[in-house]
Amino acid sequence: MEFIRKSQGGKVGNTARVLVTGAGGFIGHHLVSSLRAQGYWVRGVDLKHPEFGASDAHEFEIRDLRKWEDCLCSTAGVDEVYALAADMGGMGFISANHAQILHNNSLINLNCIEAARQNGIKRYLYTSSACIYPEYRQTATNCVPLKEEHAYPAAPQDAYGWEKLISERLCIHYGQDYGIATRIVRFHNIFGPFGTWMGGREKAPAALCRKIAAARLEGLHEIEIWGDGEQTRSFCYIDDCVSGLQKLMRSDYCEPLNLGQDRMVSINELVDIIANIAGMRAIKKYVPGPQGVRGRNSDNTRIREVLRWEPQISLEEGLRHTYEWIEKQVIELAAEYSFGVATFPVNPISP
Ligand code: NAD
Repeated sequence: MEFIRKSQGGKVGNTARVLVTGAGGFIGHHLVSSLRAQGYWVRGVDLKHPEFGASDAHEFEIRDLRKWEDCLCSTAGVDEVYALAADMGGMGFISANHAQILHNNSLINLNCIEAARQNGIKRYLYTSSACIYPEYRQTATNCVPLKEEHAYPAAPQDAYGWEKLISERLCIHYGQDYGIATRIVRFHNIFGPFGTWMGGREKAPAALCRKIAAARLEGLHEIEIWGDGEQTRSFCYIDDCVSGLQKLMRSDYCEPLNLGQDRMVSINELVDIIANIAGMRAIKKYVPGPQGVRGRNSDNTRIREVLRWEPQISLEEGLRHTYEWIEKQVIELAAEYSFGVATFPVNPISP
């Protein structure tokens, strides 16, 4: 069962049956739409339906992938698995729920890949994270970009990263011992529309878009930032993420691969870019809060070599789409609860 690319008109026909776990989440929802548009038959599985629109999956099943039986049913009758399900969120969530995250994500990944093996899955792509990289390489704002081999000696900052690292090893050994074509991607801060933007699990780009939208609509200027705003990251737009995922799945590369932008910006710079898009002047107010590592960037040498491609969409363009979508959500929420934008809480939840 393989990928068949039709030459006429760039149209693609695919005969593989694909499972996307975490299909009710941000990246999974976008990935399902993209796979379906390319002609794959797609099953989505999650604890919940997507929040911001119906899934394009042919089948969408509500299942708890911590449970063995649910994993077995979910992986039956498909050829390939994109394993995205995880109990996760931004720094506020990851830094405060170590036991829950380690427990839930270990169960999900141990059960999913074994169920996939028993069901004869041919290709299995696991979504890891830049959070696996050791804290000691990320102590300065102008840190050296992270190469894949920098993962060891291991010292991730949080339980979230430790679990991802173990699940990477699990995939590598399942590939070696059982002959499944396993693929491992390490995302670096993916953002875009249809991502969580409030509630406690949102990440910095969405949280900052929300704060700026709410402030702008209220005619205010002050934006709360956790820490001094000098912490650095790179940010990758969702469309690049979805393209890169599928390129990696189709490749023959079975080692972990960074997928992110390699343009590093500080949180202060991120605020300025979003404020510029919103057309407002932001006054930064620094407050205590979890900041994660001090600096992080992706080294894209390997992805360029392996996929002959790297993320293309600029931070400004990605943020423009994201800001527009989040501003619309803020307006709609304010209207729904009939408190009007004039009284919309600037910081309903911290980022
Ligand atoms: P998300 O939280 O939006 O999606 C994850 C989905 O997994 C959620 O819809 C959640 O309900 C589902 N899930 C959780 N527990 C489950 C369970 N027991 N059974 C079934 N489904 C369950 O996150 P996302 O941003 O779409 O991330 C997708 C994957 O990429 C995750 O594995 C995440 O760790 C990884 N990742 C994401 C980023 C990023 O910047 N978004 C960065 C690094 C790694």
